[in-house]
Amino acid sequence: MTKPTTTNTGIPVESDDESLTAGTQGPILLHDHYLIEKLAQFNRERVPERIVHAKGAGAYGELVVTHDVSKYTKAKLFQPGARTESLARFSTVAGEQGSPDTWRDPRGFAVKFYTEDGNYDLVGNNTPIFFIKDPIKFPDFIRSQKRLPGNGLRDHNMQWDFWTLRPETAHQVTWLMGDRGIPKTYRHMNGYGSHTYQWINAAGERFWVKYHFKTDQGIEYLTQADADRIAGEDADYHRKDLWEAIERGEFPSWTVYVQVMPVAEAEGYRFNPFDLTKVWSHKDYPLIEVGKWTLNRNPRNYFVDIEQAAFEPSNVVPGIGFSPDKMLLGRVFAYADAHRYRIGTNYAQLPPNQARAAEVNSYSKEGAMRYHYNDPNTPVYAPNSFGGPHADPRRAPDGGIWDFDPTIVRAGYVQHAEDGDFTQAGTLVREVLDDAQRERLVRNIVGHVLGGVREPVLSRVFEYWKNVDADLGKRVEEGVRAGLDGGARS
Ligand code: NDP
Repeated sequence: MTKPTTTNTGIPVESDDESLTAGTQGPILLHDHYLIEKLAQFNRERVPERIVHAKGAGAYGELVVTHDVSKYTKAKLFQPGARTESLARFSTVAGEQGSPDTWRDPRGFAVKFYTEDGNYDLVGNNTPIFFIKDPIKFPDFIRSQKRLPGNGLRDHNMQWDFWTLRPETAHQVTWLMGDRGIPKTYRHMNGYGSHTYQWINAAGERFWVKYHFKTDQGIEYLTQADADRIAGEDADYHRKDLWEAIERGEFPSWTVYVQVMPVAEAEGYRFNPFDLTKVWSHKDYPLIEVGKWTLNRNPRNYFVDIEQAAFEPSNVVPGIGFSPDKMLLGRVFAYADAHRYRIGTNYAQLPPNQARAAEVNSYSKEGAMRYHYNDPNTPVYAPNSFGGPHADPRRAPDGGIWDFDPTIVRAGYVQHAEDGDFTQAGTLVREVLDDAQRERLVRNIVGHVLGGVREPVLSRVFEYWKNVDADLGKRVEEGVRAGLDGGARS
């Protein structure tokens, strides 16, 4: 027996084939709410495509750590033997949804690790470098690779105009125009974290690192002629290849390596180690093996799992941090912002983005399409006296900080001689207000406090006002206690 069609709210539907009309010739009636729901839902089926990396493919998998790199990082996902579930998304950069997979372009290589300390995202490419080194150039660079405003066409002149005016593009353009500019499949390319990141070990020592995911399938590429032919024959060539390989049980894998640079060596290194247009030579910093990353599960629903996947370099976990790489720091802002625009403010609740950490204790609440319940017994602000979560610097990633720049701090203002929190409030009470104003102040406070303030907050209120002015505090306490006694008698 076939299942009955229902509306989105589960009500059986009369017809899937004919709209409700006044007579056989129409017009269509507005109260055919199923028709309206169907058309309206259809109009809203797409979220905006990514401004870059719009066309892609993805799959789930896992990272297994086979080697001991614990002397460089305390990150739990990189401890020996650790096994961490993962999501990958590969993509072209400039092409739109539906554009051919075999266009010459770098390929995105975005990886999400569902660690017990929260999601860790490594949002890399199939190249260890990039075209530019300052995020202020990113919108210019991408526009030059996309389409002309008038005729909507891609334009090689615009691309070369930008590249030649910005010679820091030379390294990446050399890659792009070479064999690796069109990988044979997503399985036959390396992935690189590209940016320099920070690793922090259990003793608090910091290292600069670069990630390398080397394909176990071997590097293979397409010639321009083959790529052009395939673009016409099958625009989804790479998406299909990844899907079919995993369906066959032929799980693609990559061996994960890092290059590690002691912090003290960064300043004197022959290349600026934070410049995204440069690599660290393998001869200077050999690859250190970490583990094996394998993709073994196709998405159940492409839109849910891959189109709504939100990777963000801001997701770092304890033991991993940022570096002074300006492009990385720009991306740390830009990605989460893009997701809020593209998918909505509650994107982190969607299946591919949900943290698998034991605890998610965020003070975020409400907003469009929220469906996780905020425990109504947990306060919605911090600090609070009612058991809400407290930030704990010992458990948090310390990625925003690096040794050689002591100006990067989380600290309050330097306190000057008379900067006490209560000093100027006390001056106002004692030296500016007259007796009548002070009296009204006391009455206003007492009235407000009697509006529902309870212990332990109540005692703190008395203490607070005594710190502002001893006499004022005494009068507030007397007034409140009298009011409470009166309330108790009535
Ligand atoms: P190495 O000789 O030690 O490394 C050269 C690396 O180049 C290889 O290990 C391989 O990296 C990569 N490579 C091989 N063929 C190609 C190709 N057709 N297109 C792009 N890359 C290729 O020298 P260095 O480490 O001193 O680097 C020299 C140059 O090699 C760099 O300027 C850079 O352009 C390129 N390179 C360097 C990488 C690095 O991280 N040091 C990584 C990739 C390229 P892989 O094994 O990663 O495929």
